[in-house]
Amino acid sequence: MTLPSCPDCVVVGGGPAGATAAHELALAGRQVVLLDRAGRIKPCGGAIPPRLIRDFDIPSEQIVARATSARMVSPAGARVDIPIEQGHVGMVDREHFDAWLRQRAVEAGAVRIEGRFIRLERDPDGVSVVVWRRETDSTEQRQRTRSVVGADGARSQVAAQAVRGADQGRCVYAYHEVVAVPEQRPAGYLGSRCEIHYDGRLSPDFYGWVFPHGGTASIGTGSADKGFSLRRATDELRQRAGLADATTLRREGAPIPMKPLPRWDNGRDVVLAGDAAGVVAPASGEGIYYAMLGGRLAAQSVDELIATGDVRALARARRRFMREHGRVFWVLGLMQRVWYANDGRRERFVSICRDRDVQQLTFDAYMNKRLVRSRPMAHVRIFFKDLAHWLGLVRA
Ligand SMILES: Cc1cc2nc3c(=O)[nH]c(=O)nc-3n(C[C@H](O)[C@H](O)[C@H](O)COP(=O)(O)OP(=O)(O)OC[C@H]3O[C@@H](n4cnc5c(N)ncnc54)[C@H](O)[C@@H]3O)c2cc1C
Repeated sequence: MTLPSCPDCVVVGGGPAGATAAHELALAGRQVVLLDRAGRIKPCGGAIPPRLIRDFDIPSEQIVARATSARMVSPAGARVDIPIEQGHVGMVDREHFDAWLRQRAVEAGAVRIEGRFIRLERDPDGVSVVVWRRETDSTEQRQRTRSVVGADGARSQVAAQAVRGADQGRCVYAYHEVVAVPEQRPAGYLGSRCEIHYDGRLSPDFYGWVFPHGGTASIGTGSADKGFSLRRATDELRQRAGLADATTLRREGAPIPMKPLPRWDNGRDVVLAGDAAGVVAPASGEGIYYAMLGGRLAAQSVDELIATGDVRALARARRRFMREHGRVFWVLGLMQRVWYANDGRRERFVSICRDRDVQQLTFDAYMNKRLVRSRPMAHVRIFFKDLAHWLGLVRA
């Protein structure tokens, strides 16, 4: 493999954000190198909305299970089953999904290298250099490049080295166990239903989940509280799901960023995307769709930068993203602070999810990534119902 001497872009990280950025840049005719560490499967529940499947042309063989309902479980054990109308939530296995995304980028013309990003340098002529090395060889390699997309995930090294304010990111730590679902399914387990548990014993500030993946399931939880035992909480969830004795295939965890960084670019030749930019929806922890959109917007910014030389193009990635999703992130952040604060509030939260208006609006926002403007009265009704619950005027 011959590497270009100075490509238009080096994309660091080959998860959903980086693989999408590399794919889109290659499609735009840019010379792009995709640098990714080999061999690690991203710990992830793998739930994706229909909008992602549509917007990024995901073939049906990547969807290993289709959830057609969601069950919310309260601290007292109250259950609210919500049918997922007009489509389904898709489940992907990140081992295969990420590999497929990277391969798609290569087929479009990206040059892939397996190796670890070490640091960014600058040559005397001002051109950026990505310093990297192979896992099997300690020799440092130097790759000159006209631009860099930092898509190396939460606590990104590219962000830390190149972008001001990258140290302001906050994270939840999430942990899950991938288990083999026995052929004799446990009572109450449905391969077409996602379970979401709001319960201080399972997470003091986030939620626990049981997501079906065909022959396997992802069972996990998250918290920003470093003293909280995610493993013990996951044991408890496995008991509740009837999967305590199921074979454990993997145990793994990773940080999930909780706030978009104030800047995604260095004003010169670096732009961030996905978890590296802090872009995961608060309250839900959903990051795959936003990572792929971030990858696409970063690619557009780099393409504009290369075409025009105007460095202001880089800041447009964040601006475009926040214009479309900033309000939803703000609402979800508020929701997390209000409803996940204690078990009394969680009980009320699950209770308001019985409401058809709440169900329809919440799921439409998740599935299609838009706030429905066509039903203003439903928003008003939800506002007053929320307020009544919040003030304790309605019993959970
Ligand atoms: C337990 C858990 C469950 C989750 N469940 C869901 C869910 O159900 N649905 C959902 O939408 N989101 C979920 N998320 C969030 C989602 O996984 C992330 O938001 C998403 O993966 C972000 O994509 P990314 O491409 O930005 O980063 P990543 O997927 O983290 O990809 C980063 C890539 O960069 C590479 N890399 C890192 N450092 C280097 C380096 N130094 N050199 C070279 N390469 C490097 C990594 O190997 C990796 O390939 C979950 C997260 C966790 C932790």
